[in-house]
Amino acid sequence: MNNPFQNAMAQLDKAAKIMNLDKNVHEILKQPDRLLTVSIPVKMDNGELKVFTGYRSQYNNALGPYKGGIRYHWNVSIDEVKALSFWMMVKCATVNIPMGGGKGGVIVNPKELSEGELERLSRGYIQKIWPLIGSDKDVPAPDVYTTPQIMAWMRDEFEKIIGRKDPGVITGKPLDQGGSEGRGFSTGQGGVYCVRELAKKMGFEPAKTTVAIQGFGNAGSFMAKLLHQLGYKIVAVSDSKGGVYNKDGIDPDKAEEIKKAGGMLGCYCVGTVCSLEQIPNDGTCRGISNEEILELDVDILVPAALENQITKDNAERIKAKAIVELANGPTTPEADEILFKRGITVVPDVLANAGGVTVSYFEWDQNVKGEHWAEIAVLQKLEKIMVNAFDEVWETKEKYGVDMRTAAFVKAMERVAARIKA
Ligand code: NAD
Repeated sequence: MNNPFQNAMAQLDKAAKIMNLDKNVHEILKQPDRLLTVSIPVKMDNGELKVFTGYRSQYNNALGPYKGGIRYHWNVSIDEVKALSFWMMVKCATVNIPMGGGKGGVIVNPKELSEGELERLSRGYIQKIWPLIGSDKDVPAPDVYTTPQIMAWMRDEFEKIIGRKDPGVITGKPLDQGGSEGRGFSTGQGGVYCVRELAKKMGFEPAKTTVAIQGFGNAGSFMAKLLHQLGYKIVAVSDSKGGVYNKDGIDPDKAEEIKKAGGMLGCYCVGTVCSLEQIPNDGTCRGISNEEILELDVDILVPAALENQITKDNAERIKAKAIVELANGPTTPEADEILFKRGITVVPDVLANAGGVTVSYFEWDQNVKGEHWAEIAVLQKLEKIMVNAFDEVWETKEKYGVDMRTAAFVKAMERVAARIKA
């Protein structure tokens, strides 16, 4: 069962049973409040017109305006967008910020578009969804393959249409256009606070703790750098083209340099940009696939790419002691059962990657108040929220004897249900 929305609903049902969720609230939460499909005509550089399909799902706004990123990916689907918007609702409620759940996506391979085409697509998407969004209604943000620049184009298009400023309509903007200090690395930073709290519970010492990270984009690469700075041993990282394993540890900044220069991560072993044939396939440092990275014998595994990576087919072979989910929905419900039985602790996405939406909320808060906070203030607030949420989820897990995901859902549903009923 790898339909992300079915997975999300299975997670909801599991938590609902444990906490005895009100039947009516449960019914309301089985579908989004509103789901929009749009077609976006874009004039391509060669003069031809191409029509792209996009979505926006507004799942629930009991706790505050809908909030959630916009994904540009060729595999975007209605069920994926619905699932991601549901998880956003759970995430905001888990960390207790006054935001609801939303998500958007466009079916596109952005790597095939020129900058001008990307800008026209991004403005075109806003031309179609603008009546639904606004700082007091629904606040989008970046997700896979969308960037601060794309957010800036979207904000600009929205403000042109409504004829006034509304910087809080979108978060993840560049710093000089109303963005927040710390937003760029906030997802990784929030994940690091979770690793730190988990380490206290599980007795991990940074220098003796090995980490593998699948996905070396915004979330994964910052997590790698921040953990490396704290002394953790990053032994493997990967991206869509494959990965690298080094028994002696990887310096994430060097790996990033090679990637930026156009090399595959496996070229890290060679020390410079190289061809596929030059990447060693055995020895201390070697190239590895995205399937292999998940099954390495490490202390902590961080999925930071896409959903459905840990399934019933590979859950028995996972050797990590703990999984910290930076990606959304990387573990299927069947895999969760297997991991729980095997005693592998999973810090779920709705907690582990909530640093991103938390600093997005700070950005929105600064925008609506006309303020700009220093990075240190942002990080102090983020740390407090993440540590508090981690402790609450851990306590709930102990109280009910369940996995951390179910515990987070129980905590979140208590908050959402109370507001819906009120
Ligand atoms: P990104 O576009 O910056 O990076 C995605 C990374 O995943 C890239 O390195 C890409 O090469 C890699 N990738 C793509 N397909 C892959 C595959 N099949 N196997 C291995 N790697 C693959 O995106 P991001 O913002 O880092 O998001 C990654 C995950 O984190 C997503 O699930 C996203 O929803 C989640 N997330 C991101 C944020 C954020 O603030 N960026 C916040 C919360 C959750």
